[in-house]
Amino acid sequence: MDFEHFRDHAHQFVDWMAEYLGSMEQLPVRAQTAPGAILDVLPTSAPEAGEAMSYIFDDFKRIILPGVTHWQHPRFFAYFPANSSPPSVLAEMLTATLAAQCMLWETSPAANELETRMLGWLGELIGLPEDFTGSLQDSGSSSNLVALLAARERASEGAVAIHGLSGLPPLAIYTSEEAHSSIEKAAKVLGVGARHVRKIAIDDQQAMRPEELASTIARDRAAGIIPTAVVACIGATGLGSVDPLAEIGQICSREGIYLHVDAAWAGSALILPELRHYLAGIEHVDSFVLNPHKWLFTNFDCSALYMREPAALARALAANPAYLVSPDGATMPEYRDWGVPLARRFRALKLWFVLRSYGAETLRSMIRNHIAWTNGLAQQIREEPTFELVAGPRFALVAFRFCPDGVTDETAIDLLNEQLLAKINSDGRTYLTRTTLNGRPVIRFSIGQTYTEARHVQEGWNVVRELAAGLMSSTAEPS
Ligand SMILES: *Cc1c(COP(=O)(O)O)cnc(C)c1O
Repeated sequence: MDFEHFRDHAHQFVDWMAEYLGSMEQLPVRAQTAPGAILDVLPTSAPEAGEAMSYIFDDFKRIILPGVTHWQHPRFFAYFPANSSPPSVLAEMLTATLAAQCMLWETSPAANELETRMLGWLGELIGLPEDFTGSLQDSGSSSNLVALLAARERASEGAVAIHGLSGLPPLAIYTSEEAHSSIEKAAKVLGVGARHVRKIAIDDQQAMRPEELASTIARDRAAGIIPTAVVACIGATGLGSVDPLAEIGQICSREGIYLHVDAAWAGSALILPELRHYLAGIEHVDSFVLNPHKWLFTNFDCSALYMREPAALARALAANPAYLVSPDGATMPEYRDWGVPLARRFRALKLWFVLRSYGAETLRSMIRNHIAWTNGLAQQIREEPTFELVAGPRFALVAFRFCPDGVTDETAIDLLNEQLLAKINSDGRTYLTRTTLNGRPVIRFSIGQTYTEARHVQEGWNVVRELAAGLMSSTAEPS
């Protein structure tokens, strides 16, 4: 494809992109596709001869688009958001065009230095102490892995990176029952083992119980196990719970244990000064993660990992084969040693575009709106006699359960909730996710899409009520 054709197609694509974003509301949120349906219409081998871009684009619209779940849909209330925005997409176009590989300072000085500056901007916006330095990782899971790797190196005094785990007593990681699954995954990758992830019991607000943490650490020490890290959560994935950072931090400082904070989702909301109190205890924290690709209008992938001692991590991970020697970059951080991959995308550009294009004030008001609408929704759920608000509002998340009049059996209620969720998600007008509370299914409603307005939240809730009422009248009918 020559550059003239490239220009024509790019213009056509941009027209389509604006059209798509503006009319997405008409599409079902979740792809209404049967498993294997897309696979069945795709040829089993790559073409020998090149094809015209117009055919390829037609197939994108015909085959791919119906099989896409529209994450930027204004009535997407499932999981957590992975919100994007026009300035972020514009930056991604430039990033894709430059296609720079940003492994070393030398291989893209601007990417390296913009990343440094953006992590400074973001850290200041969320009120992190100045002695944290950050880097952009591909995902919250990677950030958690890298933080726990730093913890492992500290607990073993650097021995594991050199000698491996053999000969060492077991290492243990402490987190709550509500922790994200990536903590256990990291323990598997790091050789700590899932068995040595201590899932500390939670209280009635689904927050880690510090006294349980302290007694579990004591028990492990008595058994010769090395307490390696505690992972506290601000805004857990299931129900948005917040662990008591100050109390956990005191335990970690007293015991000399590495403390990592997983704020992958809710960390973005800390740009609101009124939420800064969640950082009480931050003086005890060694590392902190938030994903601008979740709730800060920046395209996936963009996870910000902050550390107090990134140099220790870089020492543990440094690999300096001859082909990576770059004397010019010696005074700059070499981010390749701050994570697992060597190759790095230019992720800072989209964050720069987003932060500049909106400005902090507008970003704050967007997130404040999400939280206000969530509070309003929670109030509606409370007032609805056939629904029970079971958790939240926390940040921009609530969880509820459908419990219609006359149904008292727990198993029957659980089944109704599973049926209701299935109905909601195949209806297509909105999209929600389940989780469990005390072992029983509940339905989450998570607000945070860039294009969501108050009316979309109301429409989503109306769909839930309508389908719940329909479920009752259909089960009441004689079969
Ligand atoms: C989403 C999430 C993660 C994982 O982040 P990814 O970028 O999806 O890997 C980790 N922890 C919490 C609390 C999350 O909400």
